[in-house]
Amino acid sequence: MATIIPLADLRAPDRTDALAAFAREAALAPAVGGALADARGRGLHDLRISVTDRCNFRCVYCMPKDVFGRDYPFLAHADLLSFEEIARVARVFVDLGVRKIRLTGGEPLLRKNVERLIAMLRALGDVDLTLTTNGALLARKAADLRAAGLSRITVSLDSLDDATFRAMNDVDFPVARVLEGIDAAAAAGLAPIKINMVVKRGMNEASILPMARRFKGSGHIVRFIEFMDVGATNGWRMDDVVPAAEIVRTIGAQMPLVPADPNYEGEVAERWRYADGGGEIGVIASVTQAFCRDCTRARLSTDGKVYTCLFATDGYDLRTLVRGGFDDAALARAVAAIWRRRDDRYSEIRTADTPRTPKVEMSYIGG
Ligand code: SF4
Repeated sequence: MATIIPLADLRAPDRTDALAAFAREAALAPAVGGALADARGRGLHDLRISVTDRCNFRCVYCMPKDVFGRDYPFLAHADLLSFEEIARVARVFVDLGVRKIRLTGGEPLLRKNVERLIAMLRALGDVDLTLTTNGALLARKAADLRAAGLSRITVSLDSLDDATFRAMNDVDFPVARVLEGIDAAAAAGLAPIKINMVVKRGMNEASILPMARRFKGSGHIVRFIEFMDVGATNGWRMDDVVPAAEIVRTIGAQMPLVPADPNYEGEVAERWRYADGGGEIGVIASVTQAFCRDCTRARLSTDGKVYTCLFATDGYDLRTLVRGGFDDAALARAVAAIWRRRDDRYSEIRTADTPRTPKVEMSYIGG
């Protein structure tokens, strides 16, 4: 039975002020030259931007209904960064070396007129602009997203079995509607489409083979994701993790696989090709095969905090600087200082006994 942590305990011991002070001091300090690398020599390549903390699903591994119910204190609209503010911060990150921007949430397609933001980000130049969605609204939005300048899209789908999927999204949402969204995205040219499946033992491991079979030869890439101890509310236990090696073995026994090289340094998914040329799959093994050594990802929360790790406890408040009259050069100095100071490697040190500290929720900063 999942351990539900009371709302009050979700509030982490507050280091926000100290981090905000750090960002502010760095913004005021002279610039530091040289290539931008963190304390472990990792560059800054990816920015994940959460555009809303709300979602129309209640996936059990991310936003359990017991916690994220009617009285959950979601952010007020005034607290969210505006599209203009997001685009400004993104430009600062791009100038510092970011080449891939992923829009996330909550569910990003719930943010009204998100296409407008995509067009602003598209104007930043040669950036790989992608978005992760649960697919619920995709069928009617795909063409507009593409027209606004989105390069690619990732759709979450945890099973093809309708009962299993409805149980995992916990809002009784049907598989068919997500498949319609995937088809609409393909028709709109948002390919290659990546399909993320979180595998939780005891819930959907029987869906691994049907998912692989369904999308083999389609050009779409299914990425099987190990169930992670993100946040503090999803009742994570190591026993519920289906290791990536087991997933690859399960598929490979039926449809032989060969390892494939990463597309670029820091790519999250480990790639496997079907030996018969039927395309590829990916596995994202944060629990059993940590990939922190070349993690180049920063995250921007909906209300303007920078998080340097998915499993962080606190973030650096940039919104105060953005709304406080600091110019872009000052913002860049703050971001550079935050990155240089970064030494996160949570997945390398996590074990089955790692205490469940109140980490930031994935629905707040995106996956
Ligand atoms: S645990 Fe943190 S540092 Fe490691 S790969 Fe994930 S986000 Fe990067």
